[in-house]
Amino acid sequence: TRQEFIRNFAIIAHIDHGKSTLADRIMEMTNTISEREAEDQLLDDLSVEKAHGVTVKSRTVRNYFIDERGDEYQYNLIDTPGHVDFNYEVSRSLSATDGVLLLVDATKGVQAQTVANYRLAKEANLVIIPIVNKIDTAAAEVDATIAQLEDLDDAFTPDNIIKISAKSGLHVDTVLTAIRDRIPAPKGDEHADLQALVFDSKFDPYKGIIVQARIVQGTLNSNDQVLFMANQIKSGIKEMGVFAPLMTPIKQLKAGDVGFIVTGIKDPEAVKVGDTITLAKQPVASALPGYQDVEPMVYAGLYPRGSEFKDLKIGIEKLALNDAAFQYEPEQSEALGMGFRGGFLGIFHLQIIRERLKEEFGLDVLTTMPNSTYRVTVKNEDEPIYVENPTQFPDYGQIMLVEEPYMLAKMTMPNEMLNDVMRLAEGRRGELVDLETIGAMLLVTYRMPISEIAYDFFNELKSVSHGFATLSTTFDQYQPSDLVRIDIAIDYAKIDALTFVVHRLKANRMGIEIVDKLKNLIPRKLQAMPVQAIVEGRAIARADVPPLRKAQASGTKVSKKQQQMRRQGVKKSDIELPQAVFDAILEMN
Ligand code: GDP
Ligand code: MG
Repeated sequence: TRQEFIRNFAIIAHIDHGKSTLADRIMEMTNTISEREAEDQLLDDLSVEKAHGVTVKSRTVRNYFIDERGDEYQYNLIDTPGHVDFNYEVSRSLSATDGVLLLVDATKGVQAQTVANYRLAKEANLVIIPIVNKIDTAAAEVDATIAQLEDLDDAFTPDNIIKISAKSGLHVDTVLTAIRDRIPAPKGDEHADLQALVFDSKFDPYKGIIVQARIVQGTLNSNDQVLFMANQIKSGIKEMGVFAPLMTPIKQLKAGDVGFIVTGIKDPEAVKVGDTITLAKQPVASALPGYQDVEPMVYAGLYPRGSEFKDLKIGIEKLALNDAAFQYEPEQSEALGMGFRGGFLGIFHLQIIRERLKEEFGLDVLTTMPNSTYRVTVKNEDEPIYVENPTQFPDYGQIMLVEEPYMLAKMTMPNEMLNDVMRLAEGRRGELVDLETIGAMLLVTYRMPISEIAYDFFNELKSVSHGFATLSTTFDQYQPSDLVRIDIAIDYAKIDALTFVVHRLKANRMGIEIVDKLKNLIPRKLQAMPVQAIVEGRAIARADVPPLRKAQASGTKVSKKQQQMRRQGVKKSDIELPQAVFDAILEMN
């Protein structure tokens, strides 16, 4: 297909506004899939996505649209993820497009994700086609929705806002011609040196690494040797093609095209999203500007449970390849053995990783209490150290200054939710930075510690806003913070996997709560065992795990021998820690 007949676009919308339905309808009306196949919702194919009702991974589908003049256009539809924790993935897939369909449900109107997605598309300088959906329903408020869209962007007018029913297909033909007329064809010289942008990457157990890329300039033939520029890795092409919607082989991809490449590369670290592909025999002078690096916000230990470390290692490596925001490195715990320290965007992200390990690899994983990064200046050292694991948080006697990362949290919500959202943010050490009006919505910016956002802030925000608010976060800076390390000792042995860091104001309350919960969750032994929370060398809380058999009088109290062990100091623990222990700590905050 000549460039002028190619369109690369995505659909963006608030959840449930009909993105998948419209995608199905487009694929059906261009004969990419049959009506029956459309019912199977081809774009949501990961089981985790189904469970969470969100699309975690993108997939690009090539469609052919024949217009009223008989001209054939290649329509590459890129499916973007729908969850706020995955905003980086939205930007990533948007960067492979030249325009978007902004879809709004007429029964709901412009909502928070509508605004958030709109902003991402605007930042990427994309053409935006505004569409009002579900006009077939009795509850549709078409005029009010159009008015809200006009508020959102001066360029949206009743004339260029398209009114459709994605369900029945009404006026979807207008959308198809608008894609042709309003979204620009890709530019880029197909005779120039090859430059292709990797915007997605997936591991297939049989085929190895599969990347999706947009050819920015030049031409790629299926018998070429390619060079992945970031790590200077050369590879042949095992298969090349497009999703139509199933994998369909193709011999050549030219500037403007989007397609997949099966590399056969077996090193999961070799190719990252944002990488530039060029030709090995004739490399381009400079790589494309990569994607912004996504920094993990929370860290947690991941340990095998009922499986081998090496199996966990394989699963984690494959997942990391598929998810640019997930990072990991090996670590060792006295209590849990060999495992990994994972870096995540937030708790929801951690949950997804855990579920994917289970569903895609059959791995049951034990996760420890999550934490953020701390910057600690210790005595007699010029350079501060960055602590990602609470067990490496220096002893209090060594500490000069502790700082923790703060984020700018941008929240979009309807006007009437402002008070509840402000109360929530201020209860989490948030400081108001900015307040802005966009149509009927408010955009509020707070500066907050990551540790206050990362746990359940997003869930709380959803809850106080009845699902209407969105959150997007960016790193701001490190700020001094009065943080302390809490060690947990069971039967006088410190359990490294239970160590965590909190603000001093919370330490007492959390210490008391934790020992209280642990006393019921720690597997019992013949004798009673004390559980202590220790801060700066002092036990701030204590509770005893009752003995296994109450009848046995000698075991009901902490024994002389145990008392002695305390005086002798450290010893190794042989306590088995169930996941419930970590869950209990996580629930507190
Ligand atoms: P997504 O979350 O944006 O992908 O939304 P879906 O495409 O899954 O649609 C959410 C719900 O709205 C589904 O039950 C659809 O059947 C329904 N829906 C989508 N488009 C229309 C429409 O034009 N009219 C009506 N009545 N329902 C629609
Ligand atoms: Mg969907």
